[in-house]
Amino acid sequence: MRVYNFSAGPSMLPQEVLEEAQREFLDFAGTGMSVCEISHRDKAFSAIVEEAEANLRELMNIPQEYCVLFVQGGASQQFAAVPLNLMHTGKADYIVTGNFAKKAWQEGKIYGDARVIASSEDKTYTYIPDVDKIAYNDDADYVHITSNNTIFGTRYAKFPETKAPLVCDMSSEILSREVDVTKFGVIYAGAQKNLAPAGVTIVIARRDLIENPLPVCPTMLKWKTQANDGSLYNTPPCFSIYMANLVLRHLKKLGGVKAINEVNVYKAGLLYDFIDSSSFYTNNVVKEYRSIMNVPFVTPSKELDEKFVKEAKANGLVTLKGHRLVGGMRASIYNAMPVEGVKKLVEFMKKFEQENA
Ligand SMILES: *Cc1c(COP(=O)(O)O)cnc(C)c1O
Repeated sequence: MRVYNFSAGPSMLPQEVLEEAQREFLDFAGTGMSVCEISHRDKAFSAIVEEAEANLRELMNIPQEYCVLFVQGGASQQFAAVPLNLMHTGKADYIVTGNFAKKAWQEGKIYGDARVIASSEDKTYTYIPDVDKIAYNDDADYVHITSNNTIFGTRYAKFPETKAPLVCDMSSEILSREVDVTKFGVIYAGAQKNLAPAGVTIVIARRDLIENPLPVCPTMLKWKTQANDGSLYNTPPCFSIYMANLVLRHLKKLGGVKAINEVNVYKAGLLYDFIDSSSFYTNNVVKEYRSIMNVPFVTPSKELDEKFVKEAKANGLVTLKGHRLVGGMRASIYNAMPVEGVKKLVEFMKKFEQENA
């Protein structure tokens, strides 16, 4: 029996997509081979990469001045790729709003003067610093942000307006809300949260920014290498790209990012409204910065938190344990989480409160 999986990543995929992949798993597009068995140089496979790129461009409204890359190594690899491609004068600004943002900054420091220009660590990352009040440095090669903070459940309500190119880790919210790509120099995202199985990472980079990687940048990490070869410089994560394409097609069918955002806002609203109406559950993120993808919450005690996670699991609501840095619970409600799943969770929360308050 399938359950509602609230995992932060890898996470749920749309059931229709899983079924479609299953149907054509042994014989992809009449090749008599599985998509896992065909050469990445096969026309049937390059057609997938091309379609996935076209679908992503359409869904996110990505202009031609940007390249779209499908690479390996996860978002964490991009923490290094960003400075290695962009840190020409050796200086960059970072806004630290969570654990991944901090890791990105720490990686940046290996290559140059990576400066934290704002941080919400003082209040355990329960808010996003006011982007209009930050002192951006004039000499930065780029400004790095993490748009949705997976562990702490925050997101930018408004993006910074910066002179230097804005670089954004969108791993846990890509394709969940409309963003104006032209406001960014580079957007990257590990796919395993909102788009595909683990293994593929999306990079969307303005073409003029990829021309001069640092001399020490490994060939594989040069965005230019990947752009020149249409993401086929070496063997790409074929199956993950194929799955990403199925998810992108599915999203188009649902009406695109605007439509899915409306569903996401509705789902998150069900959960936050219930938490706010209850004196048993708490989410302590500043309201305007609450993520619509990751919703951390606690009960009055650690013991009840543990009991909650255990009983939820027995009710088909799984992977609700919070990240070790935060404790409590976390419900990740990405694009693929059905409204029904969130309703079931809220029902369970009500019942658990009645029995344990
Ligand atoms: C999950 C996550 C990462 C790490 O991604 P990997 O692909 O595992 O390297 C980085 N940033 C954010 C915002 C994430 O949610």
